[in-house]
Amino acid sequence: MPITYNYWLVALSVAVAVFVSYTAFRLAARVTDARRPMRRNSMVGGATAMGIGIWSMHFIGMLAMSMRASLHYSLWLTVVSLLVAIASSWAAIQIVATTPLSRGRLALGGLVMGGGIGAMHYLGMAAIDISPAIRYQPTLVAASLVVAIGAAWGGLWLAFQPGRGFARLPATRLAAAVLMGVAISGTHYIGMAAAQFAPGAHGSGGIALDSTWFALATALVAASTLGLTLVTDIYTAELAARARAHAMRLQQINAQLRHQTLHDRLTGLPNRDAFFEQINSALDEARAGGTGFAVLALDLDRFKLINDSLGHGAGDRLLCEVATRLRTAVRAGDMVARMGGDEFLVLAPGVSRAAEAGQLANHVIAVLGKPLKLDSLEVLVSSSVGISLYPANGDSADALLLHADEALYSAKRQGGRTFQCFTPQMSGFAAERLRLEGELHRALDLKQFELHYQPRVDVATGRVSSVEALIRWRHPTRGYVSPLTFIPIAEETGLILPIGAWVLDEACHQARRWQQAGMPLRVAVNLSAVQFRQPDLLQVIASALSTHQVPPQLLELEITETAVMTDAEESVAILELLSRMNVVVSVDDFGTGYSNMSYLRRFPIDRLKIDTSFVAEITADPQSTLIVQAIISLAHSLRMKVTAEGVETQAQLDALAALGCDQYQGFLFSRPATPAALEPKLRAHLLNRPGADLAATSARLARPSWARTATITRGA
Ligand code: C2E
Ligand code: MG
Ligand code: MG
Repeated sequence: MPITYNYWLVALSVAVAVFVSYTAFRLAARVTDARRPMRRNSMVGGATAMGIGIWSMHFIGMLAMSMRASLHYSLWLTVVSLLVAIASSWAAIQIVATTPLSRGRLALGGLVMGGGIGAMHYLGMAAIDISPAIRYQPTLVAASLVVAIGAAWGGLWLAFQPGRGFARLPATRLAAAVLMGVAISGTHYIGMAAAQFAPGAHGSGGIALDSTWFALATALVAASTLGLTLVTDIYTAELAARARAHAMRLQQINAQLRHQTLHDRLTGLPNRDAFFEQINSALDEARAGGTGFAVLALDLDRFKLINDSLGHGAGDRLLCEVATRLRTAVRAGDMVARMGGDEFLVLAPGVSRAAEAGQLANHVIAVLGKPLKLDSLEVLVSSSVGISLYPANGDSADALLLHADEALYSAKRQGGRTFQCFTPQMSGFAAERLRLEGELHRALDLKQFELHYQPRVDVATGRVSSVEALIRWRHPTRGYVSPLTFIPIAEETGLILPIGAWVLDEACHQARRWQQAGMPLRVAVNLSAVQFRQPDLLQVIASALSTHQVPPQLLELEITETAVMTDAEESVAILELLSRMNVVVSVDDFGTGYSNMSYLRRFPIDRLKIDTSFVAEITADPQSTLIVQAIISLAHSLRMKVTAEGVETQAQLDALAALGCDQYQGFLFSRPATPAALEPKLRAHLLNRPGADLAATSARLARPSWARTATITRGA
């Protein structure tokens, strides 16, 4: 019986074979690397697509063939042929989708796949109900099976690539799909050439299928293949996305945990551990031929005072602000970390010379020193920095940190607001400080403190009108320890409160003795910033005055400018209370801090003390002269008196006199000394009219404080 082909349909059938192979491989690709549930989906999806593809190719191929007789099919054999195609595809993919893939398994996969394609074709043919029956030419049948197995093997080989895993290149996948398409359609058309239909053969029974039915069926098959692929694809993608999201979340949690262990909770800065990590990697780099680096240890001066007086909430906010400023102050690439408390660290790579590190430290101190708003308060923070350099000052993280710390203590010892580079002489200072702290604890009980007094002299009359009490620690082995050394320690440890109370008591005691000896001298006592803000300050003062029956006018309190200006609003309230007690109040070290002049008017203050640093320069530096002049005229306009400190030469005194300074103290007249040592000098230079100066002050102080403040404001 003559057979002709519609070549468009032939082309379509080959295209379908290639297309479904490509789809099947795409799905099977996931089989090799995906997780368990995805593997199952891909496996079933890929096998079903391949099976349906083989099967529909067969029927489009049949449709492409036109024969005079119409063909009748047995339904169940048709279904079986479809199931065989799917099953063999599934088995083949199962066999080859293992890594590593051996050649043996690949050959077996090819055999199963090719065999499946052949079996599908001949089952499909067997489904045709025709008589007389179709006869086959054996060589062509054999050829069709060889092509089926060979091309299937080639396709699988290209797709699953033994030893290298699933083909990644789209071109390779396409080539594999083409080979598989050749396997499917080649088998079909060679198989058809092998089939011989007897002339006059005709179908009987089964279902007679005409071309419309075929077209519909194949369209359905193609659509369902696509749909299946799509659904599997989407589902798989969904699973993959879920897995990815899960992995990402895990990664996030991991990162968060790591962040937490390496960062400070309050400021978000890296913590001590992170700093150690960084310093160790900097050391590794430097040893491997990189450049040196600097470690800066930074500590806020008088942080305890702010923390105690403003509350811990404000203290925390201050630390956060400091952290932010520090980050902006350092260079890009520097690391800022918080050690805890008010201690911060900076690692500055590439900085290996002291001058360079000093520049950085100065910049940091300046940036932190700018006034800072805490709620509505303006707060001043000063800081000190200790520097150690690699390789000059140590070759381990521990040594570098220790030395930076020792340099920091040294900077603090110089009064803070400065930096120090480590020098070997500093070594052991930290331990030394600890020892000193312990000894300071017992010093009061052991009565190791003394008060020395330094007379203050009226510039105009040359008479002594008051004295300043200066504490001395007579240490059994160290000799006199300077207050500059132990007052900061006492402030940090809180010991300043009992020590300060002792000073007040002792000063009042001495004032009483002088009064009884006919020398009514006013005694000025230095109040530490911590003392100034202690809640029971007034009681402590009142108790000292009443114990020794000293009139309040004989007591003067010196408070440093920085202490007064820190939380100026609260200072106003405390100062008002003090002035209501009728004690005299002066501002010490004036000119060294940052003074808000608008506050100065509101402070009920009697006296400004010009800091030694200006006096020392007054004869040499015109700038200092100008500043002293400005301070004096400011004070006078606010009805305050001015005392110059640290006057050592006659020239300095002359300059001060010319500027209208009221009072001076300094080595020029007398060093601080014990009352016994001072007695002759005091008697000789006491005011002609004892109490004259006193009376004037008392009159002024007797007015209610609000009136005094008002007068000052108007006078300004
Ligand atoms: P200050 O209140 O400014 O005291 C003045 C310092 O200048 C004193 O140092 C004094 O001995 C020194 N001095 C006086 N005349 C001259 C001079 O002509 N040239 C130079 N170069 N220095 C002069 P000192 O006694 O070592 O006290 C240092 C600081 O310690 C004081 O500065 C004060 O802030 C603090 N201090 C001293 N005694 C006490 C105290 O009892 N309580 C508190 N809280 N602080 C105290
Ligand atoms: Mg003083
Ligand atoms: Mg002073």
